Amino acid sequence: MRTLVIHNPRSGFGSDAVFQFERSLLHEGDECVMRVLDSDFTPREACSDVEDFDCVVLSGGDGTISSLLYELRNRSVPCCIFPSGTANLLCANIGNAPEPSALARACRIGKTTKLDLGEISWTPELGSPCKRGFALMSGTGFDAQLMQAALPNKAIMGQAAYFAAALANPRPKVEHFTITVDGVSHERDGITCIVANSAMIQGEIQIIPDCRMDDGLLDVIVVETSDATQLLKPLAFGLVDKSGKSIGRPHIESFRGSHIRIESSEPAPIEVDGEVMPGLTRSYEARVLPGSARVVVDPMSPYGSADDGSSRFGGSEVIAYPK
Ligand SMILES: [Mg+2]
Repeated sequence: MRTLVIHNPRSGFGSDAVFQFERSLLHEGDECVMRVLDSDFTPREACSDVEDFDCVVLSGGDGTISSLLYELRNRSVPCCIFPSGTANLLCANIGNAPEPSALARACRIGKTTKLDLGEISWTPELGSPCKRGFALMSGTGFDAQLMQAALPNKAIMGQAAYFAAALANPRPKVEHFTITVDGVSHERDGITCIVANSAMIQGEIQIIPDCRMDDGLLDVIVVETSDATQLLKPLAFGLVDKSGKSIGRPHIESFRGSHIRIESSEPAPIEVDGEVMPGLTRSYEARVLPGSARVVVDPMSPYGSADDGSSRFGGSEVIAYPK
């Protein structure tokens, strides 16, 4: 088995888990290339030779991994998402067993599924057009401000940095949004408008129910509150109703579609999978790239149970790379 590990050592707490993973993965005769990314890496260069490998392991935070997945879109090589970042939300959303040895085993079994990615485009004021891929969420408003406020503390505080930033910014600005979903427009006031490919946040809370990464659709989430303390209500409800199906989410409305355009009354920074982009903009467009990411899944994953004839349970497990 030939494996390429693309590792960003600047993500998260700099844990050694990826080396544990490598030790669990390798058997006699295997080959593994460990590619450690520089601070100024380009996804294109990092992924240029992936077709020479049986599996590519993407190790880093959500921002690193989504930029690599976007580069690898519609290419056939299986990608294993390895959690080396602060929040590791993409890994949590895919739902594989997160231990290094379990992920190594999933790579050898070689079961994959096709997940959607999103693509967001915008033109910053005084800037040229930008386009980025995302795996989780992108948007403007309070969410982007929150990410920006959390950045200096992220390396030290981890996930707690997001909550600390929310409490430090209790009165976010209310904006007017024109939300166009597959040609139908909606006018709403709120503090943030996010496009989501997957809607699970810290604490395994689903912001909106039934948001899936394999339905060929993106979800638009509008938070219609003027006060961050009201945001604690959906978060508190999330703690007792993680799926959002029994009591729902006050102040949160959502739409679903494949092509989305958002215009906001105030210029705001764009956030892409937890990374704040330079410049401000009043509008952005997002579209879904259906089934464009081929991702390794195990039986724990809600995306790993599609019946493709190769049962991975009990004694009938088929292993792609037995030795
Ligand atoms: Mg979806």
